[in-house]
Amino acid sequence: MTVGTAGPMEGVKFGYGLDLSRCVGCRRCVYACAEENNQSRKNPQIHWIRVLEMDKARGVDVNHSDIYYDAAEVPRPGHFYMPVQCQQCRDPPCVKTCPVGATWKEKDGIVAIDYDWCIGCRCCMAACPYGARHFNWAEPDLPAAEMNPKTHVLGNRPRPKGVVEKCTFCIQRTREALSRLRGDLSRGRPEVREPAGPGKRDPPGHGMTKRVFILKEELATHPSFFYFYAT
Ligand code: SF4
Repeated sequence: MTVGTAGPMEGVKFGYGLDLSRCVGCRRCVYACAEENNQSRKNPQIHWIRVLEMDKARGVDVNHSDIYYDAAEVPRPGHFYMPVQCQQCRDPPCVKTCPVGATWKEKDGIVAIDYDWCIGCRCCMAACPYGARHFNWAEPDLPAAEMNPKTHVLGNRPRPKGVVEKCTFCIQRTREALSRLRGDLSRGRPEVREPAGPGKRDPPGHGMTKRVFILKEELATHPSFFYFYAT
């Protein structure tokens, strides 16, 4: 097992774009994430990504979504699917509420947690409007044979009982350019860059003429996670 400590790259700010028109609600990303990030398999079973099933007639309506739908029957007619995980907010309420400074925002936009400092008070869970933080109620169940040995100290290293954990944009991969499509929001690369704004379309010729939005925009948390419809 290796525990990496790679820090933020100078001038880089990470973002995430998710094409809702392609998501079929299979939850394979949920289980792939659990494997990559060494999440407890059962008792407690922890998932950093939760996929919401929503009614097309209602549009994006978290209050009327279902996370317990049957993934063997997807996609269900009249429904669409929306994976939700830590949004790496630019103004993260979870960070403001932590009484011991165990969580903070890194220069590249990733909201990190130091699991050695976390006291398990769960204030951050109450503050997060996206349900993105998860508490280890019991000794995590992670069979040695299933462990991903490539870890980062602020990311997927095994966590102890009694701490809160969450997605870190796969910090152990993104900081080594191992993500699928990686980009720097601050440099204006056409296929990976900050969209024109929620609800707006980018002008033609910018490589991204899509309907883009962020979740719970009204809360002013300013997520680095952008949902869009490519078709
Ligand atoms: Fe914090 Fe929740 Fe925002 Fe993630 S989504 S940065 S846990 S407030």
